[in-house]
Amino acid sequence: MQATGQPIGKLMAQALRFPQLISLAAGFVDNATLPCEAVNRTLHAICQDEPRLRKSLQYGSTAGLPELIEAIQNWNYDPWPNHQASSERMLLAAGSNQLLHLLSEAILDPSDIVISAAPTYFVYLGILRSLGARTIGVHADRDGMCMTALREQLERLEKSGDAPRLKAIYCVTDFDNPGGSTLSLSRRHELIEIVESWRRRHGPLLVISDNAYQHLRYDGQALPPLLSLSPSASEFVVDLGTFSKVFSPGIRVGWGVFPEHLIEPLLDVKSNIDFGSPHFSQAVVHAALTSGEMESHLPTILAGYRAKRDAMLESLKLHFAKIPGASWDQPQGGMYFWLRLPGHIDTSEQGELWKHATGQGVLYVPGHYCYPSEGQPSERNTMRLSFGVQPPEGIRHGIERLAVAVHEVLGL
Ligand code: PMP
Repeated sequence: MQATGQPIGKLMAQALRFPQLISLAAGFVDNATLPCEAVNRTLHAICQDEPRLRKSLQYGSTAGLPELIEAIQNWNYDPWPNHQASSERMLLAAGSNQLLHLLSEAILDPSDIVISAAPTYFVYLGILRSLGARTIGVHADRDGMCMTALREQLERLEKSGDAPRLKAIYCVTDFDNPGGSTLSLSRRHELIEIVESWRRRHGPLLVISDNAYQHLRYDGQALPPLLSLSPSASEFVVDLGTFSKVFSPGIRVGWGVFPEHLIEPLLDVKSNIDFGSPHFSQAVVHAALTSGEMESHLPTILAGYRAKRDAMLESLKLHFAKIPGASWDQPQGGMYFWLRLPGHIDTSEQGELWKHATGQGVLYVPGHYCYPSEGQPSERNTMRLSFGVQPPEGIRHGIERLAVAVHEVLGL
């Protein structure tokens, strides 16, 4: 496997090495609302119970702790009628990112194709590049991937003879990273129909629903997972979730529900890597989930992010509303805004803005990292802004300094 110059490691290292910089780039979670007391009590409860502690300090199974799998089923899926998540088809890993990797390794050969929204989660694009897969971007707006654009792209693949190469459609279903959008209910239904029809004509095709942010909702009603929208969805929908955002990425436990035929191949790949992710982390998450610690801490996390989302929104309105060509949408959850600047501004590290922004002490993720290499063309006048780790004051300062940098580039 070749290395692919992932920007994520560099961005996180920059944020840690230069704490005086205001990083609106790194995807760290909110420091202030990390569940310190809840974890303290949870660890205490585990450590007081010697057989339980002893068990959690031992290796676990490759698929993950069965009690945690069952608890996830009750907590995340059972509230949805017709959900088709069954514990035999669930796997745990050290974060959902690992599951994206395992899955892609199990299903893709070099030159196979994955379609995603454009822009999309750039870490996944790096994984796909490292496996030699082709990535094709489809236009997305505030309601997520645009289904007309998806149909057009699928027709192009049929015409070019590449249909057999298409293996998956990837979407960050709720509060997309980086777009901030949520796939609307009508588009969810349409996506399922499109894939069912494709599968009747061409054979296997997966939908990878990456739901890393689903519990970080600040406004509006939760939408049903794709898995619950059709009786056949369990044959082709992969649903991924994680405790990194709702609890702690330091503990790093993620889960996936997969079509039955993928479980054996995934277990094979995982056995070759680690034959099971850290058992202790899974025991901590299990204890926190079943004792109610996680549920009772969640409102604190949501209140923290809501205030930060609002701080970024207000600051953008204050400092960017008068810049012609600047625009953004309000995300209903998650950790990101997607900012579009006047068309001629290049946000990449080679562009003028990067120099001015770092000169002002502020970092962002240049938008071009988030575009698949084919399909919807990359827009270099865009950037991802994260309100995850900065406190509201840092967000306000960061946006103000970024606006100064943009004014400098525009000569205003
Ligand atoms: N998917 C998306 C869209 C993400 O933003 C992230 C975290 N940045 C992940 C997956 C992975 O999260 P983890 O591995 O911590 O579960």
